[in-house]
Amino acid sequence: MKITFLGTGTSQGIPVIGSKHPVCLSKNPKDKRLRVSVLVEWDDFAYVIDCGPDFRQQMLRSKCEKINGILFTHEHSDHVAGLDDIRPLCYMNGDMNIYAHERVIKSIKNRFDYIFKTENKYPGAPTVITNVINNKPFNLSGLEVIPINANHYFVQVFGFRFNDFAYLTDIKTVDDNELEKLKKLKILVINALRIEPHISHFNLDEALQFVDKVKPKKAYFTHISHLLGFHDEVQRRLPENIFLAYDGLQLTL
Ligand SMILES: [Zn+2]
Ligand SMILES: [Zn+2]
Repeated sequence: MKITFLGTGTSQGIPVIGSKHPVCLSKNPKDKRLRVSVLVEWDDFAYVIDCGPDFRQQMLRSKCEKINGILFTHEHSDHVAGLDDIRPLCYMNGDMNIYAHERVIKSIKNRFDYIFKTENKYPGAPTVITNVINNKPFNLSGLEVIPINANHYFVQVFGFRFNDFAYLTDIKTVDDNELEKLKKLKILVINALRIEPHISHFNLDEALQFVDKVKPKKAYFTHISHLLGFHDEVQRRLPENIFLAYDGLQLTL
C-alpha cells in the first residue's frame, strides 16, 4: 500500500493569503501546505480521502490520472470544495464513487446541487455514485476499510483504517470504545493544528498525547497551521517515531 500526502495544511493553507508570518514567508518547500488530502493506493486501486479546494492542483502535482473513489471525513469546505474538479476523471473513467456519512452526502448535495440533478442536468457536470457510510466496516475494491467515529467539536467526523494504516483529521475527541479500532497500527496520521489549544482541533500537545494512547509504530501529523511553526524546527523537537507530514511525502507499507 502506498500513501501520498496530497495536502497537509489547515483550512487556509500555507502560505495564508496576505500573511507576513515568517512561516508563510518560508522558502522551505516543506512549509508550503495545500489543504488536507491523502492518496491511498494498493494493487491497481487508488482512493483519495477528501477533495478540498486544491484537488485539481494535487492531481496534477502527483500525476494521478485515475482514482476509484473519494472518501469524505466531513463536510467542511477545506474537505469538499474541489468536487467539481473531478470532471476530467469522470470524462475519462465514468461515474465517481463517493463515500460519506449520510449527513455529509446531504451537505454535498446542497452545495453541488447541479451534480445531483436528475432532470435537465447540465451535460458537462460531474457524475457520482453515492455510498453512505455508517460506523461499520465497508469494502473498497476488495479491501476492508474501518471507519473511526470522532468529534470535531460538535461536528461528527470519520477517520479511516486501511490494514495497518489509519488516517484521522479534524479531530478534537475520540470516544474510548473507538480507540479499540486503532490497535496495532504501523502508521497513524492525526491532525496537529498549532501550539495553542483550539476548540475543534488537536493542538500539538493533544496530538502527542493521542499518539501516546494509541501507540502506533509511527505517527504523522497533518492539518497544520502556520502557527505550529517551521517544519524543520518542530520536527527536531518531536519524539523519534513522530513526524510532521509535508506535501508530497510518500509512505509505503
Ligand atoms: Zn479541515
Ligand atoms: Zn473541519
